[in-house]
Amino acid sequence: MQDRARTVLVTGGARGIGAACARRAAARGDRVVVWDRLQPTAPIVGVEHRTLDVRDSHAVERAASELEFVDLAVTAAGITGFGAAEWLDGQIWDEVLATNLHAPFRVAQALHPALRRARGVLVTIGSITAHVPGPGRIAYCTSKAGVLMLTKVLALEWAAQGIRVNSVSPGYTRTDMVRAAVAAGDLDERRILDRIPQGRMAEPDEIAGVVLGLAEPAFAHVTGADVVVDGGWTANGAY
Ligand code: NDP
Repeated sequence: MQDRARTVLVTGGARGIGAACARRAAARGDRVVVWDRLQPTAPIVGVEHRTLDVRDSHAVERAASELEFVDLAVTAAGITGFGAAEWLDGQIWDEVLATNLHAPFRVAQALHPALRRARGVLVTIGSITAHVPGPGRIAYCTSKAGVLMLTKVLALEWAAQGIRVNSVSPGYTRTDMVRAAVAAGDLDERRILDRIPQGRMAEPDEIAGVVLGLAEPAFAHVTGADVVVDGGWTANGAY
């Protein structure tokens, strides 16, 4: 048993899945640090919030250098970006790749010393769209497929240093990201629910439970894995 509190770092922890991870970790008494470009709408008691854009690698390096130990890092900051491939605005492509793929890599790099000192766990957030492509989402699907490979390579390189690296790939989850996409007409909620065998979207806390669970000693031999949490969406070959 270690004689210091666990330190948990969550990017994108002001809202949605990241906030659910921060809330769960704080509730069990961990020291929790959140990096997000937003202030939380509902501040979580005991969580240290730092306003930071994860695309800013200098800011990421500065913030990471202040952390001696990181027992669990969760890279949940992410954005969507819709549009058919032939006319997709290059700026959307750049922003989605920068946020969803380049930033987790730079965050992982910056946190490596603190993860190594703690023999910690990194959990990246993938997506079912990393496994099953959707039309009109070329930037998002490509970024998330990249996250899964990034995760596996980090797992290989860091295993001997005692760091485990896994991804969690959520299916549709009730967060502001999904609410906004439904409101904008980019997602059709009825069709989504029809394809999910469980007939409902996940709640953010259901994703957080799996993310934090992966850091538990019971999963000490799990690294380079992706855990899909989608109510059966990807298993469903029905048409
Ligand atoms: P939300 O939009 O609810 O929360 C994401 C948080 O990350 C927001 O606070 C957001 O701020 C922040 N963020 C975005 N970009 C940056 C940045 N550059 N620097 C710092 N913070 C940033 O999203 P979700 O909770 O739904 O998504 C969390 C992760 O889960 C994402 O990676 C997403 O792709 C993934 N995911 C979500 C699914 C879902 O159905 N919800 C399904 C599969 C995967 P801001 O609001 O300003 O953008």
